[in-house]
Amino acid sequence: AARRRKELFQCHDLASKYYHHILVNTEAGVPALKYLRERGLTLTTIEEFQLGYAPNRWDVLTNFLKRRGFQEKFLEQAGLLSENGKQPGRYYDRFRGRVMFPIHDGQGRVIGFGGRILGKGEPKYLNSPETELFQKGRQLFNLNRARQHIRQSGKAILLEGYMDVITAHQFGITNAVAALGTALTQDQAKILKRNADEILMMYDGDPAGQKAAFRNSEVILEVDGNPRVAVLPDGLDPDLFLHQYGADAFRRIAEEGSMSITAFKLQVLRNSSQLSSHEGLVHFLSQAVQLIGEVKSPIERETYLRDLAGEFNVSLESLEKEMKMVSSFPK
Ligand code: ATP
Ligand code: MN
Ligand code: MN
Ligand code: MN
Repeated sequence: AARRRKELFQCHDLASKYYHHILVNTEAGVPALKYLRERGLTLTTIEEFQLGYAPNRWDVLTNFLKRRGFQEKFLEQAGLLSENGKQPGRYYDRFRGRVMFPIHDGQGRVIGFGGRILGKGEPKYLNSPETELFQKGRQLFNLNRARQHIRQSGKAILLEGYMDVITAHQFGITNAVAALGTALTQDQAKILKRNADEILMMYDGDPAGQKAAFRNSEVILEVDGNPRVAVLPDGLDPDLFLHQYGADAFRRIAEEGSMSITAFKLQVLRNSSQLSSHEGLVHFLSQAVQLIGEVKSPIERETYLRDLAGEFNVSLESLEKEMKMVSSFPK
């Protein structure tokens, strides 16, 4: 079993080196390299993350790894090849025509890949399947590089995508990681909480990103972590934002613009409310109070209520009464 694990690491290491070689040294890699350069990545970043390219053919990696003595069936179990559904025993490259993002474990060993299609097409990202080495709910992209920076700063920045994390790194924001897939698991949240006092989510400014922030904050709270949220303007994701506005602007939003989950929920509620009509305002206040009622700390609850009272010119007493009415359990 130990030998098998060693071979699984070996074939991943070889695959990542091969894909990288194809990207930076060969004719086949030219369009992919051009694509990554146009997306603003430097050659240094491409080297550092060992980005690669899987050519749009069926047998490139298959042949390469077979020549190195690996069996096709083994490589399929490793998640690098797929088996032909109609012809069992026939295998082909799982990743074709994709920019390859190696995924490393905490010790920096390649355990899987994310592959992005060049330009448009479905699925946009194809990841390694769950394998003996790669359990995506237990890994965080870039943790191997970011861990020491997370420890030093006490802060982990959680982003949605590979490109967000890589661009952040290129801009000197080195404490960013991404969960692989949208939903953060408890295992991932525990890893972050072990290394950071604060977990700051900076997700895409679209409904999916918003939902992920709500959901993932619950997971972080379940493991006693401290979740925060910061929202980028104009629906930009961190990758696009950084190229447009730079690292200082990003840092400013990460620091001054970061909110508690309750503040974030209040903001979302507010943006979707009709505050100009009397009924809309009353409805908003009642829902806001209900939301604040879910906060555990009485002091915290009072500060939210005070802010609300001040801003909308209602008395703290009436908000407190409303809270007693709408809360399902006595405080
Ligand atoms: P890009 O900037 O390259 O278009 P992105 O990272 O902004 O990509 P999103 O659509 O915002 O892409 O998705 C965020 C992350 O979710 C991706 O980086 C990837 O890890 C994951 N993801 C997206 N689409 C898929 C998919 N079809 N299958 C699996 N994972 C996906
Ligand atoms: Mn998105
Ligand atoms: Mn993006
Ligand atoms: Mn995105």
